[in-house]
Amino acid sequence: MTTTLAVEQEIELPATMTGLAKLEAAPGVWTTSADVPRPAPHEVLIKVRRTAICGTDVHIYQWDEWAQRTIPVPMIFGHEFSGVIAEIGSGVSRPLHVGQRVSGEGHIIDIDSAAARTGLFHLDPGTKGVGVNRQGAFADYLCIPAFNVIPLPDDVSDDIGAILDPFGNAVHTAQQFDLLGEDVLVTGAGPIGIMAAAVARRAGARSVVLTDVNPYRLALAERLADVRAVNVTSDDLRDVMASLGIANGFGVALEMSGAEPAIRQAIDALAMGGKLAMLGIPAKAMQIAWSDIIMKAITIRGVYGREMFRTWNKMFGLLRNGLDLEPLITHRFPIIQFQAGFDAMCSGQSGKVVLAW
Ligand code: ZN
Repeated sequence: MTTTLAVEQEIELPATMTGLAKLEAAPGVWTTSADVPRPAPHEVLIKVRRTAICGTDVHIYQWDEWAQRTIPVPMIFGHEFSGVIAEIGSGVSRPLHVGQRVSGEGHIIDIDSAAARTGLFHLDPGTKGVGVNRQGAFADYLCIPAFNVIPLPDDVSDDIGAILDPFGNAVHTAQQFDLLGEDVLVTGAGPIGIMAAAVARRAGARSVVLTDVNPYRLALAERLADVRAVNVTSDDLRDVMASLGIANGFGVALEMSGAEPAIRQAIDALAMGGKLAMLGIPAKAMQIAWSDIIMKAITIRGVYGREMFRTWNKMFGLLRNGLDLEPLITHRFPIIQFQAGFDAMCSGQSGKVVLAW
C-alpha cells in the first residue's frame, strides 16, 4: 500500500528569493529576484545550501556558441547543489521529510519514455537538465521531481553533497570498462578527470596516468590521487609509459578533456584492442585518423551523465570507503562573492568552487 502525504510545510517560506541568472544574451552572470517556486504534486522544494560551479556553468557564463544555442534567457542556471527539503508535493509517496539533507540528480526524465521503461533512465532522449533547459540551482530554492531527490548520508558534508553531480560523471566514465590490472590513461585533469583517475586507482588499475597542459590542475591531481600526472607540453608520454613499464600501450583511456590533441594522443597511446571512454565534449567536429581506430581494433564508448541511480550508490560506497574529495574543493565563497567564484573557475587555477547560500 502506498501512502500519500499531505503537503508538508513546516518551514516558513518567503515569497521571493535571490538567484544567479543569465539575464541577457551576453557574457556574464547577474543576481536576480524571483518568486520562490512551489512544488507540483510530484515535486519537492529544496532550500539550497551549497552550489558548485560546473564547467557547463562557465560555458553559460562566457556565453559561448553552445550556450547561445542552448540556454533560454532569462534563466537561473546551476545544477550542482546540496540543501534541505523545505516542502513536499501532495502526491509524493517516497519516504522523504522536511528538513532532510539532500542533493539531486539534475537530469529530469520522462518516466514513461521507452528508455525509462527498460530501466535505462539516463538514456531518455527527452532529458531536461536542471539549470540548462529549466530553472537551476543557483538560487535560495529549487524544485525538482521527488524521483530525482538523493538523500545525503550523515557523513557526507554539504560541500561534498554539492559536487556529487561531477563525481557521478567521473564514476560513470570509470565504470565503462573493466580497469582491474589495466594501465589506464586519463586525458584532462579538470575536476572530473582528477576524480576519474582516483576512481580508476580504486578500481584496481595497475597504473593511472593523467595528462593535461595545466600545471595547477596536475599538482592538484597528485594531492588527491595516486596517479602519475604528466604535463604534455613538457613531458613525452612515450617516455612516461616506458618508465612505468607500459610496453604495448594503455588498455583503457578515459577522455575527459574534449581537446582534439588529447583525443588523438589517447588513440595513439592505446594498445591493440584498447578501450576508449569519452566524456569530454569537443567544441566542434574534429579530424581523427579512423584507420587507427580500425587497425587497432579500438572500442569507443560515448558517456553521458550517470546512471540513475546505481552510480549514486557507487559514489556513496566510494566515499564511505575513504575516497576523500575535500582537497578538490579549492575555493569557497559566500554567495555575495559569486563573481570571485566565477573568476576563480575562469582562471584555470582552481579545482571545484563552492558557493554557500
Ligand atoms: Zn556539472
